Amino acid sequence: MLNNYLDIKSKPFAIGVRISHPQKWINENQYGPMAKYLPPADYKLTYEAQSGRGVYSFCMCPGGFVVNSSSEDKALCINGMSNYKRDEANANSAIIVTIDSKDYGDNPLSGIEFQRKLEHLAYEKGEGFIPTQRWEDFKNNTSSKALGSINPIYKGNYHLANLHEILPDYICHDLIEAIDNFGRKIKGFNDNDALVSAVESRTSSPVRIMRDETLMTNIKGIYPCGEGAGYAGGITSSAIDGIKVAHSIIENYYI
Ligand SMILES: Cc1cc2nc3c(=O)[nH]c(=O)nc-3n(C[C@H](O)[C@H](O)[C@H](O)COP(=O)(O)OP(=O)(O)OC[C@H]3O[C@@H](n4cnc5c(N)ncnc54)[C@H](O)[C@@H]3O)c2cc1C
Repeated sequence: MLNNYLDIKSKPFAIGVRISHPQKWINENQYGPMAKYLPPADYKLTYEAQSGRGVYSFCMCPGGFVVNSSSEDKALCINGMSNYKRDEANANSAIIVTIDSKDYGDNPLSGIEFQRKLEHLAYEKGEGFIPTQRWEDFKNNTSSKALGSINPIYKGNYHLANLHEILPDYICHDLIEAIDNFGRKIKGFNDNDALVSAVESRTSSPVRIMRDETLMTNIKGIYPCGEGAGYAGGITSSAIDGIKVAHSIIENYYI
């Protein structure tokens, strides 16, 4: 009998929040007195939580926007972007915590179900807009009633909420531990008024479509590649994976 099913497996991925600070703070921290002569600064941060999970910054956007990137009805997820000039007032980056099948189950589609559950909660708690909270309120597990000194710079509207009602406790716990640690590396990173928004759930795919040594699936002629297939995360790694697959197709069919 013809097998119409592609072999897929679940894979670890990472979820969390996006954090916004004034770009000026990041520049001053990274460059010191030379800040005003230099282009908008970025950063990369990593931390191993006491739980053993990795927590790290991802897709840091200097002088950019937090973007509502939802793709499903009544579900909300966010991403970030900068325009070429990187001249918006805020820096933002994803701060994400690694998770795997121990957190969401062994079925190949469990990771996607978990991702969807969080995105539906984000939509609900944000009333359709980007759920946003001051860092101090996140630490105190209380919904923000007002913004502080930092204004959201978002593509899409925001709604003040308590992100603990969206993310699992173990993620919130490790985010607090990590972001307080990042505050020792970048002054102001854990400022009470820093803004966190959710849910950052599409950092990479929760599934991988299996392929053989020629990069083809169990169904002849299908060559999955890039992020959705589980082989990349971001523009460059997706493009490189596409090139690898193109080479393999050329070798298989034309040489
Ligand atoms: C707001 C935002 C900002 C980002 N910023 C960055 C960044 O700064 N740096 C970075 O590295 N990454 C960034 N990313 C992530 C980056 O966009 C992805 O990692 C990358 O595009 C994945 O490439 P891909 O080719 O695997 O998939 P995609 O670029 O998603 O391409 C898949 C294509 O398949 C098409 N498609 C889907 N279904 C079908 C169908 N049934 N039939 C035909 N076509 C179909 C889609 O229309 C799409 O064109 C950002 C993402 C977002 C949303």
